[in-house]
Amino acid sequence: WRFCGPHGQPPPLHAPQKIVATWEAISLGRQPVPEYFNFAHDVLDMWSQLEKVGHRPPIPAFWWVSGTGAEVKWNFEELGEQSRRAANVLRDMCNLQPGDRMMLVLPRLPEWWLVSVACMRTGAVMIPGVSQLTEKDLKYRLQASRAKSIITSDSLAPRVDAISADCPTLQTKLLVSDSSRPGWMNFRELLREASTEHNCVKTKSQDPLAIYFTSGTTGAPKMVEHSQASYGLGFVASGRRWAALTPSDIFWNTSDTGWVKAAWTLFSAWPHGSCIFVHELSRVDAKLILNTLSSFPITTLCCVPTIFRLLVQEDLTRYQFMSLRHCLTGGEALNPDVREKWKSQVGLELHEGYGQSETVVICANPKGMKIKSGSMGKASPPYDVQIVDDEGNILPPGEEGNVAVRVRPTRPFCFFSCYLDNPKKTEASEQGDFYITGDRAHKDKDGYFWFMGRNDDVINSSSYRIGPVEVESALVEHPAVLEAAVVSSPDPIRGEVVKAFIVLSPTYCSQDPEKLTQELQEHVKRMTAPYKYPRKVAFVSELPKTVSGKIQRSKLRSQEWGR
Ligand code: ATP
Ligand code: MG
Repeated sequence: WRFCGPHGQPPPLHAPQKIVATWEAISLGRQPVPEYFNFAHDVLDMWSQLEKVGHRPPIPAFWWVSGTGAEVKWNFEELGEQSRRAANVLRDMCNLQPGDRMMLVLPRLPEWWLVSVACMRTGAVMIPGVSQLTEKDLKYRLQASRAKSIITSDSLAPRVDAISADCPTLQTKLLVSDSSRPGWMNFRELLREASTEHNCVKTKSQDPLAIYFTSGTTGAPKMVEHSQASYGLGFVASGRRWAALTPSDIFWNTSDTGWVKAAWTLFSAWPHGSCIFVHELSRVDAKLILNTLSSFPITTLCCVPTIFRLLVQEDLTRYQFMSLRHCLTGGEALNPDVREKWKSQVGLELHEGYGQSETVVICANPKGMKIKSGSMGKASPPYDVQIVDDEGNILPPGEEGNVAVRVRPTRPFCFFSCYLDNPKKTEASEQGDFYITGDRAHKDKDGYFWFMGRNDDVINSSSYRIGPVEVESALVEHPAVLEAAVVSSPDPIRGEVVKAFIVLSPTYCSQDPEKLTQELQEHVKRMTAPYKYPRKVAFVSELPKTVSGKIQRSKLRSQEWGR
C-alpha cells in the first residue's frame, strides 16, 4: 500500500485524490488501516514527485519569514532533501533508532518542520514542547518521556544544562544556533555536512509518531501518544472539509510549535499539497499579524480565539488582505461577538473547530455549512460524537452532558493510542462505549454542539448549572470588556456564585469600578438568563493563561477557594 509510483517513476496523477479516497474507505470501514504508513514517504515524497512532473502550482510547500527580512522557501523536493539530511543527523549523530524519543523545543524556526519530518523518516518519536518551558517543566518532561535526545535553541539550552544531570536517559543535545555551546552538537553545521541520501524507515501504522504533553489547563500535563496513522492520516478530511485546503493554498497558523495545533496544520496542509506559511512571530502583536496578512498571499488563517479577540480591537477596515479567503479558530471557545466583529469588518466567516490533544478534530464548522453563532459546529467525520451521561448513555437533544466520542465497537483510527505509562488514566477516560472528553455541552436537534465548559469549570449555584463561556461571551459584548474569565466563588448561602475576572479595554480603565460593576451586571442580565449574572466582579490587568493562550480558570478558582 503506497501512494507513490514504483521507484523512479512519477506517481499516478490521481495520487492526491487517492489519499482522500483511502481516508474515506478506512472511515467507512470498507478498508482496514494499512499495515504500513509513513507520512514522509507516503505523502511528502509523493508530492515531491508530482511537483517534479509539473502537477502542482509553483508555490512553495513551506514558506518561513522572520519579520526582519530573512526568508526560507522550500518546495516539496527541497523539503525532502533537507529533511533527509536532518534524518541522517538524527540517525548517525544522535544514534536515534525507530521508537527512540526526541524532544523538540524550538521557536517558530524552519528547523522545527525539518526535524518533525526527519523524525518520521527515522521512526523517532517526536515530543514537541513550548519554548517557555522552565527548568522544572523540562526536567518533568525529559524524565517522564525518557527522551534520548533534545533539540532546542540558545534561549533554552542553559535551562537544559541545569537539569540534564537529573535526566539519565538524555544522551545527545542538538543546538539550533549560529554559535557553539559545550556539550551540544550544532545542528545547522551537521545539516550542511550531512548526506541528502536517506532511506525512509518502514513504519507500521500503529507505531508511535508523537508524544504530546497536554496544555495543562486543568492540572499537570498528561502524555498523549499518537500513532503514525492517527496523525498522519487523521487530518486528511478536516484539512479538506474544515480548512478547505487545495494545492494552491497558503496556510498560516500562528500557533506555537509546542502545541498540537502546529502538528494539526502540518498534517492537514501537506496531504493536500498546500503551502505552510510561518512567521517567526517573536511576539504576539495584532498589528504585526495584520500587516503580515496584508503583505503575503496567505489564503487561509488559523489563530486561537485569544488572538482574534486582539485583532478585532484594531480598525480592520484599514487593512487589505489580498488573498485571504478562509479563517479558522479553535482551542477554546470563540465568543460570538468576536466572530461578528471579524465578519463585519473583514467580510469572512470565522470557522470554529473543537478538538483535543487526544483526538483530531471532534467538531467543526466546515466551509459551506450554515454557522450557528456560539456553536462549535457538528461532529467531524469519522467521529461519532454524542452527549452522554456519567454512565455513558446517550442523552436526547437539548440536554447537557459529557461530550463523548464513540470508541466501541471500533476505536477510530485517528485517536490517541494511550496516556503514556498511565493505563489507569487511559481506562478512566472511557465510559461504556465512549471516550469522555471532560467537556460539557449540549447538542441541538440539528446536530450542532454548544460548548458549556470543562467539567470542572461549570458553576453550580443554588442548584443552577452555569457554563462560564456563556457568561464570558455576554461580558465581552460590552465595549468596556477586553477579556473575561468566569469561575465559581464560595458563598455562605448559595454554596457558590458566579465571579467574573475582567480585563478592561484601555478607554474604560479610569471609570468608577462600582458603577462599572453594576453596569456589567445589568448587561449580563439582559444578554443571558438573569440568574447567570456575576454576583462578584474583579478587575484585573491580565488573565492567567497557558502558553497556547488558553484561559486557566482553574487557577482563578483555586485562588477563590483558597486552595
Ligand atoms: P489539560 O488536559 O492538560 O487540562 P487541555 O485540555 O487544555 O489541557 P488540549 O488538549 O490542548 O489541552 O485542549 C483541549 C481542550 O481545549 C478541550 O478539551 C476543550 O476544553 C478546549 N477546546 C478546544 N477547542 C475548543 C472550542 N472550539 N471551544 C471550546 N473549548 C475548546
Ligand atoms: Mg484536556
